Amino acid sequence: MAYRTSEACEVCGKSRIEFCPRCKAQVCVETHGVVAGARHCSICEDELVEELESAQIVFDARERDFSLPRMAFWSDVVARVDLALTRRRIRRMFARRSPEMIQRARMQRRA
Ligand SMILES: [Zn+2]
Ligand SMILES: [Zn+2]
Repeated sequence: MAYRTSEACEVCGKSRIEFCPRCKAQVCVETHGVVAGARHCSICEDELVEELESAQIVFDARERDFSLPRMAFWSDVVARVDLALTRRRIRRMFARRSPEMIQRARMQRRA
């Protein structure tokens, strides 16, 4: 390899790297770098999207479950408020994780 691993993207090994301000990972500018409009890399973005999608799946499942017509409206309101709060909690937790916590979680996921 023409480049030392210390100068390559952690994901794909490409050169022209930058450091993610959130997780401090060394990522390529081209593909895995800081996401437009965000302050984190594409690996961090995957983490956030995955958690938001899980909340959406729970919401969708509950929506399908409303069987009593009289209760449906309020159940729907409650479910929507709950989803909004969950999404806010997910974003807050995402913002609070330290680079050490993030890296540790990633190692566990790979293992
Ligand atoms: Zn890369
Ligand atoms: Zn990152």
